[in-house]
Amino acid sequence: DPRLQAISEAIRVVPHFPKPGIMFQDITTLLLDHKAFKHTVDIFVDRYRDMDISVVAGVEARGFMFGPAIALAIGAKFVPLRKPRKLPGEVISEAYELEYGTDCLEMHVGAVQPGERALVIDDLIATGGTLSAAISLLERVGAEVVECACVIGLPEVKGQCRLNGKPLYILVEPR
Ligand code: 5GP
Repeated sequence: DPRLQAISEAIRVVPHFPKPGIMFQDITTLLLDHKAFKHTVDIFVDRYRDMDISVVAGVEARGFMFGPAIALAIGAKFVPLRKPRKLPGEVISEAYELEYGTDCLEMHVGAVQPGERALVIDDLIATGGTLSAAISLLERVGAEVVECACVIGLPEVKGQCRLNGKPLYILVEPR
């Protein structure tokens, strides 16, 4: 797909951010490039429009930049999966491991009903810890996670194409 090269080239790599040694994949430059941003949303929409998905769950913060556009186009609702203490209503929480310490994702109780078919979206998968926590939240309320989708994935995870037994769909590798 020739659109993938345009998407990859629109992602800026920022060395040593947020810490020395990290090659940060910056998707804000993809959002600045209307054509590449549209290609990104279009590829996801083409893939998911006929999969009977009723929920697009986006991971804070960069999953919020792609998820709502996809949800609107495929006729699904958008559910934010947020960092702790951001959601005002009753939540369920799922902790996950980081390189140093742990973090947590939360989802509003009642946002997703048992039996709903969900797509989980984030900008980038590295270890898969974040997406695994997202899958757990949705499964705990009885939803079926149809697939997880990311714009960027390391070659290792791209090759494996599975995440906790769930399919994983990735557009490009880090630059
Ligand atoms: P994982 O849990 O798979 O190890 O890490 C994925 C999470 O870290 C995602 O929520 C993603 O937004 C964030 N992340 C880690 N490294 C980068 C990066 O280089 N660029 C961007 N945009 N996000 C990153």
